[in-house]
Amino acid sequence: MNILVINAGSSSLKYQLLNPETQEVLAKGLCERIGIDGKFTYKPTGKTVIKAADVAMPTHNEAIQTVLNALVDPENGVITSMKEIDAVGHRVVHGGEKFAASVLIDDEVMAAIEECNPLAPLHNPANIIGIKACQALMPDVPMVAVFDTAFHQTMPAVAYTYALPREYYVNDKVRRYGFHGTSHKYVTSRAAEMLGKPLEELKIISCHLGNGSSVAAVKNGKSVDTSMGFTPLAGLPMGTRSGDIDAGILEYLMHKHNMTIDEMLNVLNKKSGVEGISGISSDFRDLEDASAEGDENATLALEVFAYGVKKLIGAYAAAMGGVDAVIFTAGVGENGPETREMATRGLEFMGIKLDPEKNKVRGKDADVSAEDATVRTLVIATNEELMIAKDTAAIVNG
Ligand code: AMP
Repeated sequence: MNILVINAGSSSLKYQLLNPETQEVLAKGLCERIGIDGKFTYKPTGKTVIKAADVAMPTHNEAIQTVLNALVDPENGVITSMKEIDAVGHRVVHGGEKFAASVLIDDEVMAAIEECNPLAPLHNPANIIGIKACQALMPDVPMVAVFDTAFHQTMPAVAYTYALPREYYVNDKVRRYGFHGTSHKYVTSRAAEMLGKPLEELKIISCHLGNGSSVAAVKNGKSVDTSMGFTPLAGLPMGTRSGDIDAGILEYLMHKHNMTIDEMLNVLNKKSGVEGISGISSDFRDLEDASAEGDENATLALEVFAYGVKKLIGAYAAAMGGVDAVIFTAGVGENGPETREMATRGLEFMGIKLDPEKNKVRGKDADVSAEDATVRTLVIATNEELMIAKDTAAIVNG
């Protein structure tokens, strides 16, 4: 079974054709600068890579058509006809309270996803454009929506309720939703596999640390708390996002510097986080290099980030009444031994202890705990596309 996984943004579109049973990736790539000039990257497994070719893509329709043409291309294609695409899985950022699981897309579902647009005005409309473009070109192929928020819909009210006047939840749906759900779901089920224990019996803290970062408490396979909130701006400091700050700071800075709310939000989303603290970069590799050369602000940025992760590990162990495993995943979690070490240093009292040699691993699934650790620390390469493809196949196969 071949599933085409689509992750559509406003001017870009990531795609992957894969078989969820064998986990074989047939081809993957990226359409960029849609609506501008159009750049197309195509990586067919075992064939010639087409890198950043100029292809006119006035809309997402041309982008999808370009992808389909490449997949069936006689020379560099990986399938002989479009009939070999059994279903399409779409990443959708926000499913609100309506979607607690992935769903087969029909008119009613499309309307419900559109209703969630105000909750994710930058992302959901782009996801919808991607779905519509695929429907136009593949009218008979079943499509499934996989939501970033769905996995966290199991959180109890005590974890998702903000201490605001109740009507803002009741009327305006202001609550914690959480994001990165597809990643947290994938890595926690992979952790159960690695530990050889049923997911339903495990208390796991999943640290997705990348350009965007979130930590989730997953008890018996269900998300019971997570650090992102109503928006993906909340929780940990990130590449350029502030994470949690005192809301009173907004009023203070906006008045002092005569900023509009849009200018303030631009600072919080694009100029803060580890880039804001360091004044150097949002990329952890740059920060590690700068820190090694003695840059104090780079060191502070790395420390603030790791301290944030450590505090969440403590908080979520308390929330779950214990912890069996801590997972590190995504760009920094998979490739940053220093961050993993800093975030867990001093947690020996909880049974969390790394083996310095094992912790040197980068980008590979591994148990990096010390022999005498009572909590396992795992590095797991996340695979959101595989999770989306698996969900899509399960739904299409009924
Ligand atoms: P992601 O958003 O999951 O793609 O993660 C991207 C981030 O991972 C980058 O901004 C880097 O800071 C970080 N990253 C990737 N590779 C490494 C590495 N080898 N060492 C440290 N950080 C890395």
